[in-house]
Amino acid sequence: APRLELDRVTCSYDETAVLSDISLTVRPGEFVSILGPSGSGKSTLFKLLTGARRPDGGAMRFDGRVLDRAGRPFAFMPQRDALMPWRRIIDNTTLGLEVQGMRRAEARRRVMPLFSEFGLDGFEEHYPGELSGGMRQRAALLRTVVQDKPMLLLDEPFGALDALTRAGMQRWLHEMWSQHDWTALLVTHDVREAVYLSDRIYIFSPRPARIIREITVDLPRPRI
Ligand code: ADP
Ligand code: ADP
Repeated sequence: APRLELDRVTCSYDETAVLSDISLTVRPGEFVSILGPSGSGKSTLFKLLTGARRPDGGAMRFDGRVLDRAGRPFAFMPQRDALMPWRRIIDNTTLGLEVQGMRRAEARRRVMPLFSEFGLDGFEEHYPGELSGGMRQRAALLRTVVQDKPMLLLDEPFGALDALTRAGMQRWLHEMWSQHDWTALLVTHDVREAVYLSDRIYIFSPRPARIIREITVDLPRPRI
């Protein structure tokens, strides 16, 4: 069975359809991107997956079972405001585990060994405002992956970064990807990012979003 399966999912705000008949799959170990212009319903799709909103129709299954309300199998990285500015980086990266009920000391033992891999060595006690934009996004991603959920949901993780930092982060994520057993669904409006990072891409049309094309990326990675 695919890990994630959406079957003719629809969603509207008031009378306006935002997602129309969205059917897609993500298989274990795949990196899948949804590429679409802004306003095309990408964030709404993540709201459905995380349970913040209910679909009006269609089915969402995970490992063959209908997604129920409690205990969703996703670790979600939001587009912005991922870090709390008043918490040190170490305490931001343990948040996801603490929300799951882990004690802070144990959560710290879990995240500390990952700081160097995420380029954050020595910044544990700093506040988010003292870090570069790229470092903040890596800290947010660290908090997301350390939750050890079966699937990552990444909402425009590099969208707010300048072009040079963004390219560096894309290369870094690609490198990380090849070293970990992750499954991910990423939404982006950056064509190069989608092609560079993904195994498959679904292209959304604007309002209401439909999947207008599914592309398997079996090309060599473009330079970025
Ligand atoms: P994207 O993430 O692709 O930019 P969104 O899912 O945020 O798209 O939004 C899709 C569409 O739904 C947009 O036209 C947006 O204006 C509309 N929309 C989003 N949230 C709401 C809401 N709470 N109420 C009404 N319309 C909304
Ligand atoms: P990126 O955002 O991709 O990390 P930068 O050029 O902003 O790229 O940072 C490169 C390196 O410079 C960082 O990995 C870090 O070691 C160091 N650095 C960046 N910002 C700061 C800062 N505010 N204080 C101390 N060191 C920093």
